[in-house]
Amino acid sequence: MNQLIIFTDLDGTLLDHDNYSWAAAREAVGELRARQIPLILNSSKTAAEMEQLRDDLGNTHPFVVENGGAVYIPRGYFPKMPQSHQPNNMQLLGSDRQEILATLQGIKLKKDYQFTSFAELSAQELAALTGLSLDAAKRASMRVSSEPLTWQDSDENLINFRQTLHSAGLRLLKGGRFYHVMGQTDKATGVSLLIEKYRTFYQARTLVTVALGDAPNDQGMLECVDIPVVIKSTKSEPPIVETEQSILYTDKIGPEGWNQAILQILKQYDQKEA
Ligand SMILES: [Mg+2]
Repeated sequence: MNQLIIFTDLDGTLLDHDNYSWAAAREAVGELRARQIPLILNSSKTAAEMEQLRDDLGNTHPFVVENGGAVYIPRGYFPKMPQSHQPNNMQLLGSDRQEILATLQGIKLKKDYQFTSFAELSAQELAALTGLSLDAAKRASMRVSSEPLTWQDSDENLINFRQTLHSAGLRLLKGGRFYHVMGQTDKATGVSLLIEKYRTFYQARTLVTVALGDAPNDQGMLECVDIPVVIKSTKSEPPIVETEQSILYTDKIGPEGWNQAILQILKQYDQKEA
């Protein structure tokens, strides 16, 4: 018997790039819930942002935040797993945000690169930049393991900046809207950890893992699953996925493409009859 596990990016994938709505994916989300197929949210968003979306989706599964910086596993979800003392059983996988901010501040003082990180913005400025409400902007700034920034300097300095971060043990990832400074983790880190836990949990079943994403920061996640799905985007260049699996490319954009891909996969791996 097959057991599907779905990992998904949010902005530009499950959520519309412009209005952050998942309405166009409602049918597929409902089908996954009806079949109790785990749907793991995995994005650059913070836990505070994702918790609200999880409530909205009626989602009770683990989730990966800040590009693999941390994973949250609801207490008791995997019965034999040791629990942490952090809220929602949080496990930090990447770098500590305070250390990232100290490094960024040091680079700015020394090199005078023109960039703006979330920490430098007031909630009002962040709301204006992201198009989020004030409360949503506050949730976006409650980070534990990464820092988004906008780059206002030259392409040449961007290469130097990336190199300086690398020397400090940090990496720079390009997302749909921002660059993200983080430790040596990416979305794949959380995916690999959870796949192992599901493999133990669903011992008697054959796991079929799926990941959906639209941008270069989804590459790692797409490369570690059985069915990588590249969601069409008009805002981002597509991720380059190096895998031996066949890649599913949607011809619809964002949540509409998401809906289409999940319904197609469910048709192929329907668990109802199994
Ligand atoms: Mg995206």
